[in-house]
Amino acid sequence: MNFTEKGVELYYDFHIHSCLSPCGSDEMTPQMIVDCALAKELDCIALTDHNISGNCLTAIRYAEGKDLIVFAGMELQTAEEIHVICIFPAIDNALNFEAYVKAALPTIKNDIRYFGNQTCIRPDGTTYEEEQMLSVSSDIPLYGLYPLVSSYGGLAIPAHIDRTSFSIGSVLGVLDKDMGFPLVEVWKDPTLADKAGIPYIQSSDAHNIDAFFEREYHSFIAREKSPDGIFDALKNLSAN
Ligand SMILES: [Zn+2]
Ligand SMILES: [Zn+2]
Repeated sequence: MNFTEKGVELYYDFHIHSCLSPCGSDEMTPQMIVDCALAKELDCIALTDHNISGNCLTAIRYAEGKDLIVFAGMELQTAEEIHVICIFPAIDNALNFEAYVKAALPTIKNDIRYFGNQTCIRPDGTTYEEEQMLSVSSDIPLYGLYPLVSSYGGLAIPAHIDRTSFSIGSVLGVLDKDMGFPLVEVWKDPTLADKAGIPYIQSSDAHNIDAFFEREYHSFIAREKSPDGIFDALKNLSAN
């Protein structure tokens, strides 16, 4: 951790899938994710499974006493099939939002053979299979999402906007400030964000351990290494 005149430089990964995502590898337990983040010397991470926050408490508990801030989160799929990272300062905020999202998902059972298993790991180590199909769009629209997530204390960040699917770029083709997001996540190409004058972050979107370790990590400056310091820094990043 480097200290600068403006604060502390923090390395982050705010987009990580655990074994609760149907597409997430079984090896991505909440405990393994925390251990990998520590091995990569990250300062802060968020666990962001598809439309659910069920493994976040286990990751947060496991990280207690360790030099890593773990945010509860999810990767919401909007009505337009756009992925948006939602991160929360505390587990209760995330679980309240999760209840709202659950009511906005079609009640379809997951088909394990087709989509993969969705394993939830409780803090005591016991597990269960989440039956709700998670690889599906909610009926929550993109427009109005930022204030909605803010009302739960969270931060909504459109995911991988330059990807060819499930992104603002692929679905809408444009990004502008009227959409209401003060920052976005870029996979590789920042052109859309730069054109719109919107700052961006870059995370791993890791679904397995190899992806986690292959990724080059990025940093930002926060006034302090705390959930509040990090949220303030993210909301006030400057565009290139
Ligand atoms: Zn995604
Ligand atoms: Zn993802």
